[in-house]
Amino acid sequence: MPLDPFGRDINYLRISLTDRCNLRCVYCMPLKGLQFTANEELLSADEIHTVVRAAAELGFRKIRFTGGEPALRHDLLDIVRRTASVDGISDVGMTTNAILLPRMIDDLVSAGLRRINIHVDTLDPENLRRTMRFASSDDIWTGIRAASDAGLNPIKINTVVVQNYNEEDVASLAGLTLAYDWHVRFIELMPLGGGGCAQMALSQYVPNAETRRRIEAEHGLLTSLDTGDPSDESRNFRLKGGRGVVGFISPVSEPYCGTCNRMRLTADGKFHLCLLRDDEIDVKCALRSGGGQDRVKSLLLQAVQNKPTGHSLEQGISTEHRGMFQIGG
Ligand code: SAM
Ligand code: SF4
Repeated sequence: MPLDPFGRDINYLRISLTDRCNLRCVYCMPLKGLQFTANEELLSADEIHTVVRAAAELGFRKIRFTGGEPALRHDLLDIVRRTASVDGISDVGMTTNAILLPRMIDDLVSAGLRRINIHVDTLDPENLRRTMRFASSDDIWTGIRAASDAGLNPIKINTVVVQNYNEEDVASLAGLTLAYDWHVRFIELMPLGGGGCAQMALSQYVPNAETRRRIEAEHGLLTSLDTGDPSDESRNFRLKGGRGVVGFISPVSEPYCGTCNRMRLTADGKFHLCLLRDDEIDVKCALRSGGGQDRVKSLLLQAVQNKPTGHSLEQGISTEHRGMFQIGG
């Protein structure tokens, strides 16, 4: 298993498949001025497969595909199938806005997809349009139902809480766990990538303590749950009479760097060592200059050895060069 210098077992690789997206969530992607990676500069399915095999040989067990919107990749099915077939990989998941799921989810599950995290910021259709721009509640809910019908369980719902957008909608979202055995997780807004989105994250940040107060005001006190997984970034609870889990992911107010087990691979082929910093190691360059699996293994080991701990979010400092959609959340 790859242990980093802080004794963390880094066994989870999040792979961004594209920096493009069919939505423009207010805190993630601006409406204008975006520049996307050219298709030929994205890692190909073959290159991703080489990285996954190298990672598995080093002891990585979990892979999650993200983006941008990973469902936009035309070769997603092939990538999932090849990843799930790699010896040692026991868990293949995807983070998505669900809009394209209905047409592909059965095939993805047959190909080996085991887990899904779906991003929904509010149950209110008008507020959803305002927050996740271009999304319709109907489309997202059709996607969620398709994932549930395909047997993916538990569905994990990710909600980023933003002042003046959806902070009043958190209790109704948490209420989903009364009817469903899903996990609804509230994520604190992080200032990534400079520019307007980072400014918004600084000025419209809502601490999870406040989100919890709003949920408890409506549903009563939450009961703490121990999931037994120290690397779970979510603090988990249950509503009285609830079937599912209410989670709080609080990178700003309660950093969890000490138990972080993740490495990230950007769509343009860089190991990104910590979500909240700029440090990267170029793997695409090695792959395209003739380096094979062994070279990738040594770069990945180097990435693990250089994985930092601690960030400076309390001082409002995060990545300068990449937004969340360019790293893969
Ligand atoms: N498009 C997919 C989706 O939205 O789930 C996958 C990529 S998206 C970048 C992954 C997650 O990052 C989403 O749950 C999204 O809400 C979250 N996210 C985006 N920008 C964020 C920010 N500045 N702070 C916290 N979470 C953010
Ligand atoms: Fe797209 Fe996901 Fe970013 Fe929203 S959070 S703009 S769905 S990449």
